Amino acid sequence: MAKLLLGKEVNASLNEEIKEKVAKLKQEGVTPKLGIIRIGEREDDLSYERGATKRCETLGVACEKFVLPADVEEAQVLETIEKVNKDEEIHGVLLFRPLPKHLNEDKIINTLAVEKDVDGITDLSMAGVFMGKEMGYAPCTPSACIEVLDHYGIDCTGKKVVVVGRSLVVGKPVAMMLVKKNATVTICHTRTVDMSSVVKEADIVVVAAGKAGVVDGSYLREGQVVLDVGINVNEEGKLCGDVNFEEAEKIVEAITPVPRGIGGVTTSVLVSHVVDAAIAKKNQK
Ligand code: NAD
Repeated sequence: MAKLLLGKEVNASLNEEIKEKVAKLKQEGVTPKLGIIRIGEREDDLSYERGATKRCETLGVACEKFVLPADVEEAQVLETIEKVNKDEEIHGVLLFRPLPKHLNEDKIINTLAVEKDVDGITDLSMAGVFMGKEMGYAPCTPSACIEVLDHYGIDCTGKKVVVVGRSLVVGKPVAMMLVKKNATVTICHTRTVDMSSVVKEADIVVVAAGKAGVVDGSYLREGQVVLDVGINVNEEGKLCGDVNFEEAEKIVEAITPVPRGIGGVTTSVLVSHVVDAAIAKKNQK
């Protein structure tokens, strides 16, 4: 049976580091603060918001919510972003996406100050990931994948990594971050031919396709490490990943379960980015 790579184990050490940084900041009179901008009442957003708020509370990070109606005018969204950009007390901002269709997402996202972009959504943050430069922050979910690998001492140097999915939220940035860790990376997507052979070649597989069971046992072999980023709800109403877990755990060496895997680490990474943003701001003064 595969070893389970558990989010709570990764979080335990990550949260210790965060707590130490927060305690030091508080001694110096700074309370790190996250601003959450939510448009509408999508259940996905609300669920992530609950998790992020709770994690902030546990770790001593303050939180302020800016909730706008789903039919909000673009000018009001831009105004809210300008407001959080200027707010000296807010160090990082989480803006839920996708935005309602009537809004210009590109314009809105890129109005956010890059030094507060703790969720890595602006073009500048993304450029930082692709260029290997320290601009803004890397998106939280790809960073969570790297945290899991690092925590469990899984060295990427020279390894063949296959990433399934090419979105800007997960697939592309995680591929770049793995290249930075000296892996040889292949990205698969909906037009990939014979994906099972490609995935079988990998030492490490990262699956972020947004489709339950897209990678099953026939794609996998012994010795592989599998990171399942997917969050889906199956026919029985239960959370499941993009990998067929029952089949995979009998074959591979190690796997992140869903839930209890990458998801919880994403929230810790978000909070750690807020704390790092607070430290960066303090050091600027
Ligand atoms: P997305 O829909 O934007 O992108 C999915 C990508 O997968 C696309 O590039 C597409 O080409 C590829 N793909 C889809 N079906 C495929 C198939 N059958 N074969 C090969 N490639 C296929 O999704 P996303 O935002 O990248 O998210 C991916 C998954 O990760 C979703 O399940 C999402 O819920 C989950 N997610 C989890 C977290 C977390 O914190 N754990 C955060 C963000 C997203």
